[in-house]
Amino acid sequence: MAAKPQTDHDRRKQISIRGIAPVENVVDLKKAFNRHLHYTIVKDRNVATPRDYYLALAHTIRDHLVGRWIRTQQHYYEKDPKRVYYLSLEFYMGRTLANTMVNLGIQSSCDEALYQLGLDIEELEEIEEDAGLGNGGLGRLAACFLDSMATLGLAAYGYGIRYDYGIFAQKIENGWQVEEPDEWLRYGNPWEKARPEYVLPINFYGRVEDNGGKKRWVDTQVVFAMPYDSPIPGYGNNTVNTMRLWSAKASSNFDLKFFNNGEYIQAVCDRNEAENISRVLYPNDNFFEGKELRLKQEYFLVAATLQDIIRRFKSSRFGSRDPIRTSFDSFPDKVAIQLNDTHPSLAIPELLRILVDIEGLPWDKAWEVTVKACAYTNHTVLPEALERWPVHLLEKLLPRHLEIIYYINHLFLQEVAKKFPGDSEKMKRMSLVEEDGEKRVNMAYMAIVGSHAINGVAAIHSQIIKTDTFRDFAEMFPDRFQNKTNGITPRRWLLLCNPGLSDVIAEKIGEEWVTNLYALTGLKKFAKDETFLRTIIKVKQENKMKLAEYIKQEFNITVNTSSIFDIQVKRIHEYKRQLMNCFHMIVLYNRLKKNPSMKFTPRTIMIGGKAAPGYHMAKLIIKLINNVGRTVNNDPIIGDRLKIVYLENYRVSLAEKIIPAADLSEQISTAGTEASGTGNMKFQLNGALTIGTLDGANVEMREEMGDENIFIFGMNVEEVEETKRQGYNAREFYEKNGELKQLLDQINNGYFSPEDPNMFKDIYNNIMYTDRFMLCKDFESYISCQDRVSEVFRDPLEWAKMCLLNIASSGKFSSDRTISEYAKDIWGVEPNDIKLPAPHETPEDFGLDSKAAKK
Ligand SMILES: *Cc1c(COP(=O)(O)O)cnc(C)c1O
Repeated sequence: MAAKPQTDHDRRKQISIRGIAPVENVVDLKKAFNRHLHYTIVKDRNVATPRDYYLALAHTIRDHLVGRWIRTQQHYYEKDPKRVYYLSLEFYMGRTLANTMVNLGIQSSCDEALYQLGLDIEELEEIEEDAGLGNGGLGRLAACFLDSMATLGLAAYGYGIRYDYGIFAQKIENGWQVEEPDEWLRYGNPWEKARPEYVLPINFYGRVEDNGGKKRWVDTQVVFAMPYDSPIPGYGNNTVNTMRLWSAKASSNFDLKFFNNGEYIQAVCDRNEAENISRVLYPNDNFFEGKELRLKQEYFLVAATLQDIIRRFKSSRFGSRDPIRTSFDSFPDKVAIQLNDTHPSLAIPELLRILVDIEGLPWDKAWEVTVKACAYTNHTVLPEALERWPVHLLEKLLPRHLEIIYYINHLFLQEVAKKFPGDSEKMKRMSLVEEDGEKRVNMAYMAIVGSHAINGVAAIHSQIIKTDTFRDFAEMFPDRFQNKTNGITPRRWLLLCNPGLSDVIAEKIGEEWVTNLYALTGLKKFAKDETFLRTIIKVKQENKMKLAEYIKQEFNITVNTSSIFDIQVKRIHEYKRQLMNCFHMIVLYNRLKKNPSMKFTPRTIMIGGKAAPGYHMAKLIIKLINNVGRTVNNDPIIGDRLKIVYLENYRVSLAEKIIPAADLSEQISTAGTEASGTGNMKFQLNGALTIGTLDGANVEMREEMGDENIFIFGMNVEEVEETKRQGYNAREFYEKNGELKQLLDQINNGYFSPEDPNMFKDIYNNIMYTDRFMLCKDFESYISCQDRVSEVFRDPLEWAKMCLLNIASSGKFSSDRTISEYAKDIWGVEPNDIKLPAPHETPEDFGLDSKAAKK
């Protein structure tokens, strides 16, 4: 008897790692769902929309978090472990529904319940808006870290800003990027809990009053910070941590001057100005734009968070036994503050200000406490990304902080002079305050001086910051510099996004990998098991077909699902070299045009990513890719052998669809420019092969899997440096390589832009005369490496074996491993199992007249 094709429902039902579905749970879930539809959403099934069903489901799932959330926080209060505070201007969370079900182990029960109710759970999952409060890797890293900290049972908090508008929605119109505002809160956010009763005042502007050396910051404008809490469930461990995001609220007497003049309407309207602080995420990735509103955001986060941290420190159970915690000596034993890049680095002068000006500590004590509590993660060495705030802005907005920064610098330069006497060049280089040109504060330098630990995010990057970017500082503080190679959470990036692959892995080696990704090495022994390799191939094929359907539906492009799915998704940036990928497209096109009957391995090349709205070159690159796509995709000679797809509006939820379907992952930045990359790890974990340079974490991926399982090409960091010293000349390569010359001329003479032959001249001129990223030098090596890729792909079993060895070698890149290292080497906290009693699920168990709650 022929097996019936499995429905998605059947498939999801089988997977035991997603939780078994006991009948009682299914019955209870259905009841709770109907109850929420009625009482919370206030609809019946005659008028409910799919969004109403999504919201009813979200509330049903949320109910399962509440008991665990309260218990976890009670546990922290009672046991008073050292807390970890992860401060970040970005948390790129994506969707919450499926992740919550997976981490609670109730996905199967929910599937079954919704199925019995006649609803399609996958359709409902699609209704949820992404929480897009991030630009790219840095923001997504913060989100993966929250998942890992909860899964490891760390007493951790994410602190950030609740932007009304997250990263813009990208539309492609006539090949150009168009930005639309991201109204992610339009239909409400069922996952957050506003805490208006805990608003905190934040000061701006004003002046410093000096009473015989005792400083006070006065005449300030006050804005309130209102916390919104979201639950962060660990995987299968009853821990639910908190992400607290601050929203700006005008104080009730904001702009009193108008109020007194009777201009009541004006006063109310002006409240917007204060509340604009949390209006919108700045859409720059790896780029510093010195805008006052951004500086306000950075301070707003830091000031609200530190008040919260200090309140919690003082009011811990031990604190209340001992009315006030008698001193701040124990502060660094109870508090670890991790700065996600320099964006929240004002935490350093702000903590000093609180300790000295408000708590009355002597400077030396306050300094010791601050340095012991703070740690800084560097995310980039690109000079245009490093924050250097003009002194005049700081002086206007944060006059007391500027004084404190000057004082830190004064004391620090004395130390430098002591350690390196007579080296005035070094003093000048190391000053936190840059004196030539417009006076600016180098925030990375300040973060280094004010932190006990500084880390890069991949081995090669940590090496570069020690020996190059922050060389003088590494000589001064050799013990502070560390490496913490980034990671990704295997829950979202395998278990949730790739159920097919999760399932076949679990059948072979069980489920340990979900919380110990190194367990995937157990797959290595199946590298010659043809049956298993064919299973891997089948899963990939199914994922490719699903993505092909999405591409057909969204872009009306038919792709060949037996072609190589060659994918580059990440922010559009010159250093990431999407343009070199585009050159490869043109090479393949020109070859097929010249010799239509040549032997050719079919490819579908997909590129996705957003450009910062003000980044001219990045936006022009998007247009070029789309114009090349227009030419290629409509050429009958090419057929389905080569297709170009621009994946519009790349974001977390789209990444979850694309990555499981990839055959080839493009990680082709100029060596020395990509600090780590995390996209690379997601592809490896999902069984795509990588074509990449020896940059960022690619280096460590190669170490883990072996050179024979990855396609490495191009200059290494030393060769890049040597080329810069010798002087790079693109024309040399243009003259030498016929394919390169042809495609550059085509770009320059309007071959891909008959509507405007001059359209891409800026790209041509940049590549020929001002290219910092040396595309032409790596071009030949890239193209011949791609030719090898095409060759290997013709042998499906060989390819599948490499895929399997990639998956089996991805254990290192779990963010659980990364977080364990931060916990041990930087924070001094123990990963611990919180043995919570089985949580009660009914509110009555927690009510005032409850006997059960007395236990
Ligand atoms: C992982 C991720 C990134 C980071 O990708 P890189 O290739 O490391 O730059 C960016 N955006 C989204 C949506 C991601 O999920």
